[in-house]
Formats: sequence, structure tokens, C-alpha cells
Amino acid sequence: MSNTSRVRFAPSPTGMFHVGGARSALFNWALARQHQGRFVLRIEDTDTDRNRPEWVDGIISALAAIGISDKDPAFEGPYFQSHNAEGQREAALTLYADGKAYYCDCTREKVAQRTGSQQVGYDRYCRDRGLAYEEGRALRFPTPNEGVTVVDDVVRGRIEFPNDAIEDFVIARGNGAPVFVLANAVDDIREGITHVIRGEEHLANTPKQQLLWEALGAAPPVWAHLPVIVNEKRQKLSKRRDKVALEDYLAEGYLPQALVNYLMLLGWGPGDDVEIRPYEELEALFRLEDVTRASAFFDVKKLSAFNGEYIRKLSEEEFVTACLPWLEGSKAPWAAEAFDEAVFRSVAGLAQTRLTVLAEIVKYVDWLFLDEPPYEEQSWAKAMKPGAEAMLASAREAWSEGDWTVEALKAGLEAAAAEHGLKLGKAQAPVRVAVTGRTVGLPLFESVQVLGRKRTLARIDAAAAKLAAPGA
Ligand code: GLU
Repeated sequence: MSNTSRVRFAPSPTGMFHVGGARSALFNWALARQHQGRFVLRIEDTDTDRNRPEWVDGIISALAAIGISDKDPAFEGPYFQSHNAEGQREAALTLYADGKAYYCDCTREKVAQRTGSQQVGYDRYCRDRGLAYEEGRALRFPTPNEGVTVVDDVVRGRIEFPNDAIEDFVIARGNGAPVFVLANAVDDIREGITHVIRGEEHLANTPKQQLLWEALGAAPPVWAHLPVIVNEKRQKLSKRRDKVALEDYLAEGYLPQALVNYLMLLGWGPGDDVEIRPYEELEALFRLEDVTRASAFFDVKKLSAFNGEYIRKLSEEEFVTACLPWLEGSKAPWAAEAFDEAVFRSVAGLAQTRLTVLAEIVKYVDWLFLDEPPYEEQSWAKAMKPGAEAMLASAREAWSEGDWTVEALKAGLEAAAAEHGLKLGKAQAPVRVAVTGRTVGLPLFESVQVLGRKRTLARIDAAAAKLAAPGA
């Protein structure tokens, strides 16, 4: 690669932004920035039945979320494939004028009749018929009769495609509209692309594209096809089966920097044991030659562990800011005025050590902002066993006077536990469920201290009354 390198990311706006797309974008981005090259964003929007403008916006904002945007001088575009329709048509006509493409009036049925099969592909029937253009005639590209087309791929090595297995493929439809393989090659040439780095699913198209590049008088780019991304069953990640949208991960509170770090390790590694490192280091270490051929396992558990580590790395201020979207406004399960940022700040540090994804913040702190604790059925059943009522009564007594400090609260409950011959852990359970609604959460005494004496005692009373109620 050199500083004149131009790579591109060429998504089709047909859905949410796939994590596989994000991985391709990041690899391209790392290379472009390493070499002061350019990263071209080209939206391949020619499939008008499946494209929607909102997906284009989604791609642009998801890319920006992972640090790829026009704020950086390496970024160029977006260009739109549909805007170059003229250029693609011209290329098709030039190929025809140069004798490198021919018109064909065969229907699928006719071909199948001649070949006796739907499967074998086009039999080159019109190749030498010299047909001129007429509405309805497709333009085909004559592939070499013999030999092989060799694709030199940085990741996959030398791949030979036997030419007799590459049919004379269509480059423009009967209405003159260029087809995808042509549009893709013409746009890449026009944009001066030097390296095509994309998912392995495009490998099958590569010999055709390479033949087109050559026929159009351009030196083919460096090819690099990235390994497929699979789920835990080793199935290709798919939007029907798996959570694949980058937007969904962001919405759940995966931090962009954790996602970037994790995605960059899908099919590549720096060759040491350090997995979590700042983007700048990943970028500096990235080498296309080190991308593996083996499929890459998208391990959501591992991603979550990365995310937890990244959450821990935030400053407390950054953490609070990152959590606010879940706590203020419509995402929160309480009325906006019930939220008190100062109260949240007093427990934020305790929560920061525990979260895996930011969305979980709600269940760590909701009991502070809801009028009543959100009793979780399972937690209630587990903690409110025989003896719970007596323990609640003792806790109430211990906490009804004296200092309201973490130390005093702990000492009070310890003494109350001892009265019942219980260890502190056991004694805490009904109190914790009474106050927070759940058996797990932030440390109890800190939680209770933040809630205040009045509300804490009222919650203990309410839980005791619930226990005493018939059928409890
Ligand atoms: N538009 C294609 C896609 O979204 C990418 C084609 C390419 O990278 O060459 O899958």
C-alpha cells in the first residue's frame, strides 16, 4: 500500500448495518489511514426494489458511530452508484463497440431447450451472431473459452477459476440497464480504487469483475476477501437467525470503542495476546496479509466481556454521560421528573464496576426512581422464605434510629442477623428484596444509605405487610 492507495466500502442500502459490513469498513479504514490513502464510501443503490433512503442514513450514521466519517480527511464520498448510471451504460456500449460484448436475444426457455438443463448456464449461442441492439436484447460479455482466470487474493492466495465455468454473463439488461457486476467494476475504476477489500461472498463475482476491469483497459485492483463471520453453531451470521445489526448493539449500550476493538479482531489479530487495545494501536498494527482464511466466530459473550472492560475504563463523568440516555427521557421506565441525576451520581461508581452493557443500568438503579421497588417474582420467592418476616422486623428496628451511614447500617444489620443466628449474607436477602425488589444489585448498605431512612423503612414495612397478607 502507498499513500496513493484508495480503498472503498460499497454497501447496498437494503437493511440495517450488518456487523460484517462494519468489519469490512473498519479494515478498509485502517488501511486508508495507515497509508494516508483514501477511504471511499460508495452506496450501491441500484437495486431500486430493495433500497431505501433511510438505510443510507443508517449506514452513514452507523459508520460515524464507529469513527468513520467525513470529519477525517481520509474519508471521501458518499458516492452513489445510481448517479453513475450514464458512465456504466457508456462502459457497456464501449465494450460492445470494441467487440468485447455482444447482444443476445435468447430467452431462458430457449437456452434451457438447447442445453437440456436450467442449470448449465448460457451456451454462447449468440456470441457470433452479430446481433445489433434492439429493445429486449441483453448485452453479454464473452469470457475466454479456455484456460483459467487467476485471482490473486491477499487473503486467499492464488485462486484459479476455469474459464469454461464462467458463462458469458450479462452486463446490461434488455432495457439497457447495467447489471451489478458491471456497475461495481465501472465505479471502482472511475473512483481509482486500488484495493478491493470485502466479504468472501463476493469472491464468486471476482473473476467476472477482473475480466471486466481488463476489458475496460484498467489494471485490476489488489483483491482481499475477508473470511465469513459465523455464529456459535458455525452458521454464517444471518439477519434471520442472529442479531447482526450494528445499530442494535449500539442501542443496547455496547460502546462504539468496544465494538470497534472486537470487530477488528474478527479474522485478524496482531499476533500477541493483547486483545483489548486502543483503536490507534489496532490501526497501526493492522496488516491485510495477516487476515486469516478461517471463518471468524462472532462471539457475543466475548463482545460483552470486551464491553464490560471498556465500561470500566470510562471516567466516572464519561460513564454518567453514557448512561443518561437510558435514564432520562422516554427509554426510562419512570416519569422524567422522577429521575434525579445527583442521586444517580452517588451510586454510578458502584454500577460502573458491574455493567456488561449500558442498558443494564436501568435495573441497577430503577428502585431509586420508582415509587415502589420493582419486585421481581423470582427474587421475592427466593428471599421471602420463612423467617423473612422476623428478619425484616429486626432490620427495621435496627435502622429506625442511629446514624445513617454505611458503617452504622452494616453494624445494625449484623447485630440483627446475630439475633436470628444468621450470617449477614442470609440476613441481607429479604431486606435487599424489600428495598430494591431484587436479590442481586448494588451493595446493600450503600444502596440503603442513598435511598434514605424514610423510604427504606417504608419499603421494609410494605414488604412485611405483603408477606403478612393472606396468600403471600
Ligand atoms: N454492494 C455490495 C454489498 O453490499 C458490496 C460489493 C463490493 O464490495 O464489491 O454486499
